[in-house]
Amino acid sequence: MRALMMDVPLLVSRILLHAAEYHGDTAIVSRSVEGPVHRTDYATLHERARRLARALLRLGLEAGDRVGTLAWNSHRHLELYYAAGGAGLVCHTINPRLFPEQIAGIIGHAEDGVLCADLTFLPLLEGLAGRLGAVRAVIVLTDEAHMPPQPAGLPPLLCYEDLLAAEAPDYDWPELDERSACGLCYTSGTTGAPKGVLYSHRSSVLHAMACCQPDVFDLGAASVAMPVVPMFHVNAWGLPFAAPMVGAKLVMPGPRLDGASLHELMAAEGVTFSAGVPTVWMGFLDWMRETDATPGALRRVAIGGSACPRVMIERLEAMGVSVLHAWGMTETSPLGLANAPKAKHAGLDPAARLDLAARQGRPLFGASFRILDDAGRDVPRDGRSFGRLMTRGPWVASAYHGLEESAAHAEAGWFETGDVATMDADGYVSIVDRTKDVIKSGGEWISSIALENIAVSHPAVQEAAVVARPDARWGERPLLVVVLRPGASLDAEAVRAHFEGRVARWWIPETIRIVEELPHTATGKLLKARIRELYAREADNPSP
Ligand code: ADP
Repeated sequence: MRALMMDVPLLVSRILLHAAEYHGDTAIVSRSVEGPVHRTDYATLHERARRLARALLRLGLEAGDRVGTLAWNSHRHLELYYAAGGAGLVCHTINPRLFPEQIAGIIGHAEDGVLCADLTFLPLLEGLAGRLGAVRAVIVLTDEAHMPPQPAGLPPLLCYEDLLAAEAPDYDWPELDERSACGLCYTSGTTGAPKGVLYSHRSSVLHAMACCQPDVFDLGAASVAMPVVPMFHVNAWGLPFAAPMVGAKLVMPGPRLDGASLHELMAAEGVTFSAGVPTVWMGFLDWMRETDATPGALRRVAIGGSACPRVMIERLEAMGVSVLHAWGMTETSPLGLANAPKAKHAGLDPAARLDLAARQGRPLFGASFRILDDAGRDVPRDGRSFGRLMTRGPWVASAYHGLEESAAHAEAGWFETGDVATMDADGYVSIVDRTKDVIKSGGEWISSIALENIAVSHPAVQEAAVVARPDARWGERPLLVVVLRPGASLDAEAVRAHFEGRVARWWIPETIRIVEELPHTATGKLLKARIRELYAREADNPSP
């Protein structure tokens, strides 16, 4: 029997319409590239997004055309998300921290029709002159007073604020197919050439609804949310859609992501929730420690993108800030797992609670998970047996843009994440490693994540990376590379001693390097391939 309910499509424009109608005066505060803090609200954002939609269409863009963005988190970037998606175009967020060749490759592959760039990124675009594919105009996200002169070799520069001012705000969002694309994001390319993931209206709305739940970001109209994770890193983990959906106040940090700037904005705006990768929180925590600052209204932070060290959870919780460890990928919109305790965990002692919180979390409704062994059988859910983590759901990619014939899933209907994981009987997943980062020593596996976690729990260690080094006897052995806190001194022997009693003896790295800094990817993760190149050569690491 066919049901008799309305078939109203799930469209991102409806999110903004809802925010404008019922949370019209709720603030959106952005630290601008030009300097000052800018304030607007959802009603104004909606009006400006409608003007912008008209302006984009006037440039000749048609349904499905891509609008590239090179921009920090700001109200203008938010307007672009909604104007492009809402008008039936596709908002293609580009990670400006990628290598210039990768950026040119992505712009060409996506066939971006126009690019919208913050002033910060004009030098980057000038370096790509002549390599911008089908780009017919560059919209500079600023006002007339800050417009730069037209550089040679670039498509015409247009002033964002002038374009908006020239349009009427009476645009009606079209009734689109909810399965049409509204966003495009390329993977950061740590495991090969970047590949494009095309989000639909439907996937974006469903994912945002999941984000708001209490066991995920716990967002509502009383929340003040600050996405520190950039809007070019998997749609800032869904926050640009989730916050307006529930009428949360949004605070956009712009280009300044250091501890002092983040704290200043958080304190001034009463931020209650924030989200970002561990590297950002490390800077924030160090700054808090140096200045004895307090976290103010901040009560919850989501940490993911790479494993959140247990000690980071401990330090934040000691300040009264609860940590939501979460796992995701570009291909999963990104959220798939989030770690909130169950009622039965209320009585856990602090150490057991931290052990639980350091896991990557439980599946959200909407993202199913399986863990398969090499023979394709499900491994037992005992928290110990590990295998390949697979996922499926309405916000998981089924193929990559331009590679539609090669479905993104390996097994029928399931996407292979490339991660090795365990799951316990309660559904909590622990990521052991990325498949290519796990260390195979004497036929057994060693988790680089587990060793890094122990290294950074030493008070003198700022950051740690563990990679495999070739070893004649064992096949591979772990090599630990650490960066010390400013002013700290520690030798390799003392670092090794810190592992005694915390992990099986054969896991303890015998080769430990203390270095000035470690290389990171465009999204702030440790660049393990480069670390292997730099430090793990066999000749430099003879078997002890
Ligand atoms: P890329 O794959 O290009 O690095 P993504 O941002 O999509 O870009 O990275 C997804 C990967 O990041 C996951 O497959 C996983 O290896 C890692 N990751 C994400 N969140 C976590 C987490 N909480 N703990 C451990 N690893 C994580």
